[in-house]
Amino acid sequence: MWNRVEQTAREVFGTFGFGEIRPPIFEPTELFARAVGGETDIVSKEMYSFTDRHEKLELPKVMGDYGGFIEKVEKLYDSGEIPRTNNNDLLLTRAKTHWKQYVEHATTGPFVAEGFENLFRMVIAVNALQLGPELSLRPEATASVCRAYIEHNMHAWPQPVKLYYTGPMFRRERPQKGRYRQFYQIGAEVLETLQQGQGGAKDIPKDAAVDAEVIEMVMAFFGRLELQGVQLEINSIGHNAPDCRRGYVEKLKAALVEVKDKLGEDSRRRIETNPLRVLDSKLEHEQAIIATLPRIGDHLCDDCAKHYRELKRQLNLREVKYEENWRLVRGLDYYMRTTFEITAQGLGSQNAVCGGGRYDGLVELLGGPPTKGIGFAIGEDRLMLSLQEAGKGGVAQGRDVYIAWMGEKAQATAIAAARKLRDAGLRAELPPVEQKLGKALGQADKLGARYALILGEDEVVSGQWTLKTLADGSQKKMGEAELVEFLKGARALSG
Ligand code: ATP
Ligand code: MG
Repeated sequence: MWNRVEQTAREVFGTFGFGEIRPPIFEPTELFARAVGGETDIVSKEMYSFTDRHEKLELPKVMGDYGGFIEKVEKLYDSGEIPRTNNNDLLLTRAKTHWKQYVEHATTGPFVAEGFENLFRMVIAVNALQLGPELSLRPEATASVCRAYIEHNMHAWPQPVKLYYTGPMFRRERPQKGRYRQFYQIGAEVLETLQQGQGGAKDIPKDAAVDAEVIEMVMAFFGRLELQGVQLEINSIGHNAPDCRRGYVEKLKAALVEVKDKLGEDSRRRIETNPLRVLDSKLEHEQAIIATLPRIGDHLCDDCAKHYRELKRQLNLREVKYEENWRLVRGLDYYMRTTFEITAQGLGSQNAVCGGGRYDGLVELLGGPPTKGIGFAIGEDRLMLSLQEAGKGGVAQGRDVYIAWMGEKAQATAIAAARKLRDAGLRAELPPVEQKLGKALGQADKLGARYALILGEDEVVSGQWTLKTLADGSQKKMGEAELVEFLKGARALSG
């Protein structure tokens, strides 16, 4: 099933001109903090982060080695190979001081409590040092794709650059149906670096068409998979300017402060940290309150409003059905203008199978040239659950042919037959030991084989093999070459 879904993605995305990119599983934490945003749930509490150790350092195994270790750390710190942070600076000074005091005690006096105390404090300081870069398992891949775009000068490629990826993502969430700590995404991005004379309002029709085509592509993919109950919701979240989203957020905040007492704890906290996220609330008692809040659609600047109108026109041209949802905001900081989410049936409350949006400016924020971006990520686990639920998931493992061989002489013929059939791309099962005919046919049935090739001494001698169709029990005799052609034909017919 996973193969079929991924294979279908490759095919469909390929027809839209997308190529595959394979970003790494981990990256510097800083990349995600900057791209996704420090205030987001993902970065503030869901990332699996760790400090890498500097290659030249191995933690001391015996007490006496700590002095030398601290000296080494100091050298690497001075040369900048160990992160020069305030915290490291403080810890290193502490480690040095306590080590020195400990050594003085150990040589000048009896080993008393104070010696212990120094040793203890020194070890604590050493353990708290950050001895290498801070890394994180990727919680999403857009940041990595943008990082790679910059690192490999993709702005010099023919524009726009269209890429897709598949693979595991990691977020420390509460596991439940459709929500895992290691989950899989299939995603795609369209990146376009601004050329001379590009940018501004005249690009709006083009940008909206690109957005619509990306959405059309996901919908085509879901259609090909026969995903059931697919619903596309769209919204525009404007852009970060006082006459657009920033102005709106101020109004939203003011309105939220008014109703603060009626809101739950999470929403109250978000009034300060991320007011847009309040709109995302699923709490029953907050719904009526949220319905009265100001709506972003009424506060978009002229260009963003035009882009949104154009997006809807483009979707209509492509016969992509959508619903508008003014409460649709995405949990990641980098989105602007177009945002969308797709839900499917059979998933309970975790029913979003795809989220996406436009992120002009993200590449620039990460140190690259001014570049536009639009992309999406599909939750592959949820996609799989929904397909299974609707009975669209099952792919019979199946065999084209089960080779029932009997008698020592037949084994060599069976092995040769299996090789020929497999070379022709047919799925052939060859039992490793001889079986009685009845047992072999039973086994063939269990494995979902369509045919059984029966090879006994007679067949070996005559060169005329027996092929049994398992569905109706009919039998035919044929030679080897004829058999391979016949089975290839049958395979092609069954798809
Ligand atoms: P949600 O609101 O469900 O937490 P999200 O806004 O965090 O989703 P995105 O970061 O936009 O999700 O990721 C895109 C898609 O990846 C989601 O629509 C969902 O299908 C899937 N996804 C996200 N987090 C998980 C997870 N922990 N387990 C399984 N799938 C996930
Ligand atoms: Mg989430």
